[in-house]
Amino acid sequence: MSTYEIEHNTTDPSTAQPPRRRRPDLSTFFSALSEITPAPDHRPHAVPVPGDISAAFYSLAEALEMMRRDAGAEPHTHAQEDTDNGNTDHSNDLLTTMIQSLLSQADTPPREVEGVNEEFCDMLERVPKAQLKESDICPICNNPFVEDPYPLVVQLPCHPTHRFDMECVRPWLRLRGTCPLDRVDFAKQQREKAEARKKLVEEDEEEEWDGSICSINSYIMVYVQKANLTFHNSDDAVKEYRFGTMTYPHGFCPNCGTSVYLRALDGEYKDIVAVNGRTLKDVDISTLKIEELNGKRINAG
Ligand SMILES: [Zn+2]
Ligand SMILES: [Zn+2]
Repeated sequence: MSTYEIEHNTTDPSTAQPPRRRRPDLSTFFSALSEITPAPDHRPHAVPVPGDISAAFYSLAEALEMMRRDAGAEPHTHAQEDTDNGNTDHSNDLLTTMIQSLLSQADTPPREVEGVNEEFCDMLERVPKAQLKESDICPICNNPFVEDPYPLVVQLPCHPTHRFDMECVRPWLRLRGTCPLDRVDFAKQQREKAEARKKLVEEDEEEEWDGSICSINSYIMVYVQKANLTFHNSDDAVKEYRFGTMTYPHGFCPNCGTSVYLRALDGEYKDIVAVNGRTLKDVDISTLKIEELNGKRINAG
């Protein structure tokens, strides 16, 4: 098996001996990556500049190049551009394709890192050692999985045979977000899911905000011209709260929570105040002519 061949072209004599192909040190890559990846917790507004992003692509390309040199592979002058059909046994070609893809992206970097997040990598299906055959190799480093006494092998969701050393595939996933074999774009799937979730939450919130407070409180609104309205207490006897569109302050008693009124900051209703009829001292609600209105239908905010 070629992975047992002794390497003769390694410049560092201390590393020339191990028969197994080493994985490169990726700490430079990961620190470059953390600089340019927006982390919701501590770097929410970090906007990477294109130069930083290029550096991450170059760094990973370099690491993979080291891996390829370790394999003693002849440098490929022609990229395998046609590996879209999924499985390929030519892992050196795969490595070459990955390197070339990284280099070309380094030249024209995306505005943001488009890889998957760390959580995605953590959640990947682990393949237990007992399920690994001796002939199973990692398509990236070309080493048999079981050569490692404690193999950490992950299976990508795209295909049951798309298995990699976690250590080999993780940096690629974080940066590019795709399966190196069939280029299924997990990062894009993640983004689309997040987008759909966000939309759902927004719809939910709108549903809740669009006037539902009016029905919960059983408002009986009496519409009064602002000019005709006098409050007998000081201004801070009522606290205002704004929902949804923020344009319709709802006034509440800060002590008992009673809804007092709803007013518009601007627009066609700005001269009108909707007073909660139930709070009007001398008004007998039962004598009012009530017109029902579905608060959820109007954008009461
Ligand atoms: Zn590997
Ligand atoms: Zn795949």
